[in-house]
Amino acid sequence: MSRATAASISHAALRHNLAELRRRAPNSRVMAVVKADAYGHGLERVASVLRDADAFGVAALSDAERIRDAGLDNRVVLLSGFDEPEDLPVLRRLKLDAVVHCDEQLRMLELDARSPGADPLRVWVKLDTGMNRLGFRPERVGELQQRLGDLRNVHAALQWMSHLARSDEFDVPSTPEQLAAFDAAMRDINGDRSLANSAAILGWPASHRDWIRPGGALYGMSVVDGKTGADFGLKPAMSLHTRLIAVKEVRAGDCIGYGGTHVCERDGRIGIAAIGYGDGYPRLAPAGTPVLVDGKASRIVGRVSMDLMAIDLDGCPGAQVGSPVLLWGPELPIETIASAAGTISYELACGITRRVRFMDE
Ligand SMILES: *Cc1c(COP(=O)(O)O)cnc(C)c1O
Repeated sequence: MSRATAASISHAALRHNLAELRRRAPNSRVMAVVKADAYGHGLERVASVLRDADAFGVAALSDAERIRDAGLDNRVVLLSGFDEPEDLPVLRRLKLDAVVHCDEQLRMLELDARSPGADPLRVWVKLDTGMNRLGFRPERVGELQQRLGDLRNVHAALQWMSHLARSDEFDVPSTPEQLAAFDAAMRDINGDRSLANSAAILGWPASHRDWIRPGGALYGMSVVDGKTGADFGLKPAMSLHTRLIAVKEVRAGDCIGYGGTHVCERDGRIGIAAIGYGDGYPRLAPAGTPVLVDGKASRIVGRVSMDLMAIDLDGCPGAQVGSPVLLWGPELPIETIASAAGTISYELACGITRRVRFMDE
């Protein structure tokens, strides 16, 4: 039998989440962000299920290529834009929208405008309103509009975007300040606007504008501290599960696993599940992190190892070899596991490794 460890991806949950985001931002178009292999959910699968998104957002040219190879002709936005002049013909061939965020890219476009066959590209100009990662300073919008507007290899209608640094914190002024900086710079400028990532869609309706850019929320995940995707009416798309491959009787005083970090207080039963950090389950998840065995609440004991973990079977008298173990999913929020491991849900979903079998449901 093949290894039981699998990630099930719910197509219904993906569709529900897209519909829920459209309901929350009824006047916006949706750029579904499918970077990092659709946050670990599988790019081709997710893009096909969400094919009625108005556009897809990706971080790598190779991801855009995969979307086209899957036969999808949606708009695709290359969120970090192009890296070198040789990328531009590829953008044209794949009919991609380019984000332009820095002077180097601007100069590449200006040079490209002189070459034959330089058909117009659709461009999103990225402004840095406070994230201090990618983007032009907002006071340059006039100049950017002028320079890009003069180029025959750039579509006349420019789109304008910015990214929010703290949209997951609903009680700090950072997001309204970034919106104000964006609006002040854009006062005399036409063109579609886009600012809202998942947390902003959920918590800052004033940020919705022409295009929302949900990533995590599409997969039913939240990065708002203390909240799960379900708290916002979203459905987790991924369930990570495996089975027990051994059940051991242990005595008081026995030590479990590497480092012997867990010492049994009394006689009992320990289940060994076929999953570990080699599958992407975080090694930093401490003893006590919840798992479900046969649907019943239990907890990890000792250290997570590469292929295996040990589970306390005290509350699961019926558990035996072959019993199903759920690591996260609708019944056990990924946010709970992420918080126990000191990270966010996105990192866990992105970190599922290639040996995990993917199943569609
Ligand atoms: C990743 C990304 C998003 C999506 O962020 P989420 O928090 O997952 O919704 C939106 N916009 C840009 C530019 C991104 O890089």
